[in-house]
Amino acid sequence: MAAVTVDDILSVPPIVRPAPGSQERPVRSVTTAPAGFEGEGFPVYRAFAGVDQRLLDPFIHMDQMGSVEYAPGEPKGTPWHPHRGFETVTYLIDGTFAHQDSTGGGGLITNGATQWMTAGSGILHIEAPPEDLVATGGLFHGVQLWVNLPSESKWVPPRYQDLAADQVVLLRSDDGGALTRVIAGNVAGQVGPGSTCTPMTYVHATIEPGGRLVLPWPANYNALIYALAGAAEVGPTNTAIVAGQLAVMDAGGYVSISAAKDQPGPATKLDVLVLGGKPIGEPVAWQGPFVMNTQSELRQAFEDFRAGRMGTVPVGRN
Ligand code: MN
Repeated sequence: MAAVTVDDILSVPPIVRPAPGSQERPVRSVTTAPAGFEGEGFPVYRAFAGVDQRLLDPFIHMDQMGSVEYAPGEPKGTPWHPHRGFETVTYLIDGTFAHQDSTGGGGLITNGATQWMTAGSGILHIEAPPEDLVATGGLFHGVQLWVNLPSESKWVPPRYQDLAADQVVLLRSDDGGALTRVIAGNVAGQVGPGSTCTPMTYVHATIEPGGRLVLPWPANYNALIYALAGAAEVGPTNTAIVAGQLAVMDAGGYVSISAAKDQPGPATKLDVLVLGGKPIGEPVAWQGPFVMNTQSELRQAFEDFRAGRMGTVPVGRN
């Protein structure tokens, strides 16, 4: 797994311990992501499937894309499509995704970088592997997280944050067995580069077999632990989760994640995403690419899209 790594883990700062007396968050549920296909047919795991939307709030949806080793000519993306009312956060661990949108913007998201797109009032975009990757094939692995916007922010103009791989904030566990990349939010006083519309934290950790990561976690956030690769034990009673499984944690002041001493292979280490935020607490009306508060706002979104009011595909693009 590429993302961002360091040669000497002891060169990065350690995560401070949770406050004395704070409680470890227990596991509330474990679910297994079903496999599916997105866009033109790239393989995904639906990380949040089967979990009550209220427990996910402020998050809506998350796809683990790959990992997949493409043959030449095989890489696939999405056709042009709209979004309104939320943010797509695309974190590329291995490989490259190219991006274009109806405002004329675009760029590459590559090995360890994150593109944070606030769709707000509406935008059309296309996400696809670049031509050279299509020609050669290769490894592709990433995650797309959908973060909801509160009602007052659903109509903000679309905007992007391109977070380069070297902008993530690196931290380590006490034992040096876990490297933590803070993409957004505050972990024990260290703040990641992502600017968020709603308070939240988004972390990717790699943990050596037998290592243990303890993350102080805001009491007013939910806490979700998703295994990207390898085998983990989470919570105070060491609940086992493996790649493709999500643990929804209950209330408390910190989360703990241990990497199993014997990793199942092909993974030799544990890779997890740890994410949480302050629940927005509003009604969620979600259909396809739109996330609004009411059914009438959803109908309006489909009408606005059909009428071209979310933008149009730039001339000369397909
Ligand atoms: Mn999209």
